[in-house]
Amino acid sequence: MANDTLKKIGEVLLRAENVLLFPHTNADGDAAGSCQALALALESKGVKCRILMEDKLAANLQFLDSGLFTWDNDIFGKEFDIAIAVDSGEVSRFPKREEVFHRGRTAVCIDHHPTSKPFADYNYIDPEAAATGEIIFDLIGEMGVKVDEKIAQALFTAITTDCGNFQYSNTTKRTFEIAAALTDSGFSLSETSNAIYQNNPVERIKIETRILETMEMIAGGKVAMAYVTKDMLAETGALMEHTEGLINILRGIAGVEVAVFLKEGDEGKVKVSMRSKSYANVSELCSSHGGGGHVRASGCTLEMPMGEALSLMRKEVPGVL
Ligand code: 5GP
Ligand code: MN
Repeated sequence: MANDTLKKIGEVLLRAENVLLFPHTNADGDAAGSCQALALALESKGVKCRILMEDKLAANLQFLDSGLFTWDNDIFGKEFDIAIAVDSGEVSRFPKREEVFHRGRTAVCIDHHPTSKPFADYNYIDPEAAATGEIIFDLIGEMGVKVDEKIAQALFTAITTDCGNFQYSNTTKRTFEIAAALTDSGFSLSETSNAIYQNNPVERIKIETRILETMEMIAGGKVAMAYVTKDMLAETGALMEHTEGLINILRGIAGVEVAVFLKEGDEGKVKVSMRSKSYANVSELCSSHGGGGHVRASGCTLEMPMGEALSLMRKEVPGVL
């Protein structure tokens, strides 16, 4: 099924009375920033919008919250006009809100994950986009909304966080062009970057130390793997959100191609994150375990204890090299 045009999707959205936006679980800068930008744009045209969350907004993204984020599944009642999945190409990316998603009379999906399949009434999935924020920028243009300071700040957040602040291979000429266009709207680049990147609670540094103690090198140093358990969090007073991005330390080691980071979750589940540096495709291995993502950044959830998950990864990850 081919993509619908952004023009068409813009028309559908602008005809709506109310729109509920669905970022994926543990919304990252792209999911939260894209939702905030699109919600602000639609609100400026008189469409009532809320961004429905199932977990807390990360501390370093709190500045995005101007009151449009909600944790109330019944915010629009039993039915509403449009449910839109943003940066999430399948309903399993927002498991605790799936039932609410289906209350929308029309479903829309805007995403950039290559493993996503069109599942909504209107879909726009562009794996070439470095961030969903790039697509939202184009959509906002199609809707004839001027990108103001707040919208630009949200879109910049989406883009900088998903392309590793313009370092990853997904960064394109278009990424820079959009970022350049955003700087025209007057938001502060340094204040926004400080809020996102220079804002670590001390507990993060404590948990980072503990996690790095678990690090093991596999496949002759081409794979670095580490993990975090709930006990480790309790001992350091850190929250799981404080481990966000630590996988990049593992990938940053000389000679490492694949970094693997395992987080102990609820009910015997382990959330696995994988990153690759220059050639390995980690999305296939994650897909084979029911997850997905990008060639260089993917994830999946394993239903087994941490010890077993680590053994499985030791066995399977060298195969992606
Ligand atoms: P992270 O490791 O930061 O959780 O996720 C890395 C990338 O993989 C993100 O683009 C994320 O959306 C995707 N991803 C992570 N976990 C899953 C999953 O369980 N299913 C799918 N389809 N994608 C995932
Ligand atoms: Mn994204």
